[in-house]
Amino acid sequence: MHLILLGPPGGGKGTQAKKLQDDYGLVQLSTGDMLRAAVASGSEIGLKAKAVMEAGKLVSDEIVIGIIDDRIQQPDANKGFILDGFPRTVAQAEALDRMLGERGIKIDAAIEVRVPDSMIVERITGRFTCAQCGAGYHDKFQRPKIDGKCDACGGTEFTRRADDNAETVQKRLDAYHAQTAPILPFYEKKGVLKVVDGTLPIDDVTKRLKQIVEGVTVG
Ligand code: AMP
Repeated sequence: MHLILLGPPGGGKGTQAKKLQDDYGLVQLSTGDMLRAAVASGSEIGLKAKAVMEAGKLVSDEIVIGIIDDRIQQPDANKGFILDGFPRTVAQAEALDRMLGERGIKIDAAIEVRVPDSMIVERITGRFTCAQCGAGYHDKFQRPKIDGKCDACGGTEFTRRADDNAETVQKRLDAYHAQTAPILPFYEKKGVLKVVDGTLPIDDVTKRLKQIVEGVTVG
């Protein structure tokens, strides 16, 4: 099974990808996570990407295509994957098509998690992550059961992303509308585009995604 989650930053793609990967034995491939790891490690790619990410712009196609090309060749990607945050431009979507075509892989569904811009700022500026296990939380919508303690691993340290602030969010939304939304027709033409209402509560979105996943022909 090979899925793509599309939709604006802060729309819930990462949260939902984590739930689907557990339930269907798929691996979540998030270019945002990979780039943040590169920034943290101080690698050459990280050094190039850092300022671009902090400005809310898109990292070059060449860099992210290279990262994904390497990543999908890792053995754990053989069982199937959920792309989260990639592709983000038409050039990336075309490159992905070529990479998968060479390996005889087809995308089973490209699912747009649709959320209006008006809801995004509140969602993004409130989110934080367990520093130990990466579980995601939100100041308003998903607090840990015990304040200051991760539900999943008991960790007590949390982090917030450098780009999750009100000024950068608008730039990320602009990039989404200008550069990423144009790939929706690309997948519509292939007949694999589905839409879910990302404004619903998290579990309802997951339910809807599962209906889609279970309804598509596995390739
Ligand atoms: P995300 O975690 O998906 O919100 O990504 C965070 C940031 O990483 C984005 O605002 C971009 O600067 C960069 N990024 C992540 N994925 C891509 C991609 N596919 N193409 C270009 N830039 C990306």
